[in-house]
Amino acid sequence: MADRKKAFVVGHPVAHSRSPKIHGHWLNSYGIAGSYEAIDVAPGDISAFLSSLAGNGFSGGNVTIPHKEVVFAALGRRDEAAEQIGAVNTLWFEDGFLCGGNTDAHGFAANLDEHAPGWAGNGPAVVLGAGGAARAVIHALKERGLKDIRIVNRTVARARELGDQFGAGVSAHGADATAALLGDAGLLINTTALGMHGNEGLPADPAGLPAHAIVTDIVYVPLETPLLAAARQRGLKTVDGLGMLLHQAVPGFERWFGRRPEVTPELRAMIVADLETSH
Ligand code: NAP
Repeated sequence: MADRKKAFVVGHPVAHSRSPKIHGHWLNSYGIAGSYEAIDVAPGDISAFLSSLAGNGFSGGNVTIPHKEVVFAALGRRDEAAEQIGAVNTLWFEDGFLCGGNTDAHGFAANLDEHAPGWAGNGPAVVLGAGGAARAVIHALKERGLKDIRIVNRTVARARELGDQFGAGVSAHGADATAALLGDAGLLINTTALGMHGNEGLPADPAGLPAHAIVTDIVYVPLETPLLAAARQRGLKTVDGLGMLLHQAVPGFERWFGRRPEVTPELRAMIVADLETSH
């Protein structure tokens, strides 16, 4: 079919990606004649892959590990979020040019909008971790107007690097400062890999947070991480990380297929079932 739109996720490996299930669900639900496929491309072949996209009829796609930074550097047109985060996870064509964006910050904020409305006015934020995901989270927090963002990282030099990049209102700390920083915080966000299956542990003790604080974890395997369990037991509001994954997919689908999709309970239940089968 000539007008059948095609999109992809490219990674190495890529079999673990849940993006084909998310986009496939939307294509199906909205009756759109399109396709979304997972493509495994080795690091040395990514430039050739990018050059081949237009000729192969793709409208765009997603980029995942390990290509996000290399694709960022290869593109001449990038959106503001990608510039701030230093990585690209979404590609599309505009005026014949391949463009790159980053939708992780949107996904993070939209997940909290859905499950903890008003979160941005809840007080200072403590961000645990200073890797790629922390960049997206800090970008979202700044965009939403937070004026006191405290980055805590095991390797304090990485936290300082992010603090310097994001500037006013963003401070950097080592892990030993965590307890003191939590006392008046309104939002605690885990962006470290601690708490994932196979890397169990508590990245911070939520016992020191005020009663109005919201705790969110961007790790979503398991859905309830040790941090979220501890926060729930304390009676704090918690938001899991799966919604970030679902919401970050929305802008790409809209660009490639022309319809803004919805993150519904059905979509979430389908991905939860998939996570349960694979872990
Ligand atoms: P990354 O760039 O490798 O950064 C990992 C971070 O975790 C660093 O700050 C690292 O500290 C810290 N860390 C790792 N192990 C630790 C430990 N044992 N104790 C203390 N700190 C530790 O990874 P990333 O790309 O930012 O991803 C982080 C997590 O977010 C992953 O689990 C990923 O799956 C998840 N994620 C979720 C979504 C979503 O949609 N929900 C999106 C993106 C990422 P050092 O700097 O000291 O090494």
